Amino acid sequence: MADKNEYKLSVLPDGLKILFISSPNIEYFSMAVSIRSGSLNDPPDLPGLAHLCEHMLFTGTKQYPKSGHFYTTLAEAGGDANAFTTGILTNYFMEIPINSIKRTQLVDNFTSFFENPLFKKNGMMLEIIAIEEEHALNRTSKLKILYYGMKLVADDSHPFTQFYTGNIESLYTTPKKNGIPVRKRLEEYFCNHYTLSNISLVVQGPEPLDVLQKQVKTKFSSKKPVISSIHDFAFPKHQRSKCLWVQNDTASCIRIFYSVHCDDNKPKLTLFLRVWTTLLGDEARGTVCEYLMRTNLIVGLTCHVQALDYDEQLLVIDITPSHRGYLRVSSIAQIILEYILSITDYDLNSLGVVLEEKSNQEKTSYNFRESQESCMNELSGIAET
Ligand SMILES: [Zn+2]
Repeated sequence: MADKNEYKLSVLPDGLKILFISSPNIEYFSMAVSIRSGSLNDPPDLPGLAHLCEHMLFTGTKQYPKSGHFYTTLAEAGGDANAFTTGILTNYFMEIPINSIKRTQLVDNFTSFFENPLFKKNGMMLEIIAIEEEHALNRTSKLKILYYGMKLVADDSHPFTQFYTGNIESLYTTPKKNGIPVRKRLEEYFCNHYTLSNISLVVQGPEPLDVLQKQVKTKFSSKKPVISSIHDFAFPKHQRSKCLWVQNDTASCIRIFYSVHCDDNKPKLTLFLRVWTTLLGDEARGTVCEYLMRTNLIVGLTCHVQALDYDEQLLVIDITPSHRGYLRVSSIAQIILEYILSITDYDLNSLGVVLEEKSNQEKTSYNFRESQESCMNELSGIAET
């Protein structure tokens, strides 16, 4: 079914961006908030602070001080909520069945996260323990191991090399030893980065746009934004392509990645990068993926784009080598590199046709996407852009 949604984007004078989406057939009212700040803005002496801030917003606000109140009320209403922190963003999401009598209260509670969180000291340790548990899980995740591997080979002056997740040691033991007031630093981080110009909000519900607009009364206080520090690239010009080979009980993978420096034309580059993921991940006859599988060098290959910073994206190729391929890792990397070079040799007209096809494909798949009951990922993705 074609897109029946109606959209309205408001950019308020203080910089706050709100996108309203009216979706007549949807069964949930949803909100996604994206903060243009994440772990790259962690102070060097408090790794994990942005992540802790994300956790602490759920533990009480001036209007709704009781810890656990939001989640309990939301669960009783049949809703759901989630949040996550990346290097450059912190995203929050909530959804409630449209006919819930708690809707107004829950929307008010959720928006209060971004207005006046209490950062209660007595609730902080529980959240630090939750973060420690996440960190423990990360240690056995293949993707996280590869991610931390990329940090090891990045330029060591870049904040990308810092420890993102945080744990008891980085958020409690070491700060305590060094006399660092974690709660005060949390408040400072919130004041400096959760500013109106850093916030994007997406609101989706079945009502018409004007009704949706009235339902969300944001009271975010206007704070002067602090300009985030500008860093050089994590993978500067002379070291933009890297190859990682991870092999242990839980992860056996080759990751080849290229850093793409985006300057100020990110939207166009994003499309280019998506074309590369299609070309490299394609298993049709004559592609590099098919060749590597046919010659029994690999058993699988996936490709994706990862934003490292606002001006730096990574084209990531993850390869699972076959037993034969384990002995020929450099040959695999060489074959992929040659394939990439052969594509760049194509004439501009042919490349233009491929780009146009990809662009049309993306438009069509967006317009005819399956309507989803829960749209957590979709809305969070829109809020990020
Ligand atoms: Zn977490």
